[in-house]
Amino acid sequence: MNAECRYSRNEGLFGAEGQAKIAGTKVTIVGLGGLGSHVAQQLAYLGVRMFALIDFDIVTESSMNRLIGASDADVSAATKKVDAAERMIHSINPAATVDRFGGRVADSGAEAPIAWSDVVFGCLDRDIHRLELTEVCARNRKVFFDLASDTGGGESLWYGGRVVLCAGSGCLVCLKLLDQEQMALDQMDQREREADQRIYGVANGALLGPGPSVVSVNGVVASLAVTEFMVHVTGLRAPAAQLTYRADLGTVTKSLDRPAEGCYYCEGLWRAPSP
Ligand SMILES: [Zn+2]
Repeated sequence: MNAECRYSRNEGLFGAEGQAKIAGTKVTIVGLGGLGSHVAQQLAYLGVRMFALIDFDIVTESSMNRLIGASDADVSAATKKVDAAERMIHSINPAATVDRFGGRVADSGAEAPIAWSDVVFGCLDRDIHRLELTEVCARNRKVFFDLASDTGGGESLWYGGRVVLCAGSGCLVCLKLLDQEQMALDQMDQREREADQRIYGVANGALLGPGPSVVSVNGVVASLAVTEFMVHVTGLRAPAAQLTYRADLGTVTKSLDRPAEGCYYCEGLWRAPSP
């Protein structure tokens, strides 16, 4: 295998120096589902060589509409998503190192791979898990790209997604991007949710769990995030703080929203003086 040939088309954009920076960047991907599997594949092709993967879940029939690298045999074998992603990364680059943690962000075992990494990709479905990951990334002062694909609307249906860069000057909390009602529901068990629905009339949709998720929309969101990672690591330009993809309109826009002052995560953890 000739390493010079492999990345020559990358180096046409950001040079051998940029390629070396990508190879020297340690990346943790949290969530290896519809978004994270795209991210893992693209980072492997981009030339990232050091990976940590975090996901507790297995490959199921209902994920086969969007899980990049998973095969039909993985459904019957109940393959872990971290194992399917590791196999895909190694099929692209056998020399890559891939550590796997088959648990959740809130588990103590997730701290070490996040602390080890230079950049974290959050590819999660639920806002409660985004908040947990924000806390761990802020405490460890990591550059954190949060990815989301989403739908909503009712009468005026919209669908698409977003990428937010959190590194101490704006995060999911101070940009007010987390759904408080959904997070409260995520923390309840099924009986509590049904009682809450009876008492407060919470919309049924909020109780159904994750909404639609489509491979091409996820692919755009993952591509936006990996491109912002690429410009950040190679120094091509400053990465965007927040990009919003409206697939229903066919647009990508850069948000100019200002974060709220006094954020515990940005000011109290990310930018706190080193101990
Ligand atoms: Zn913040």
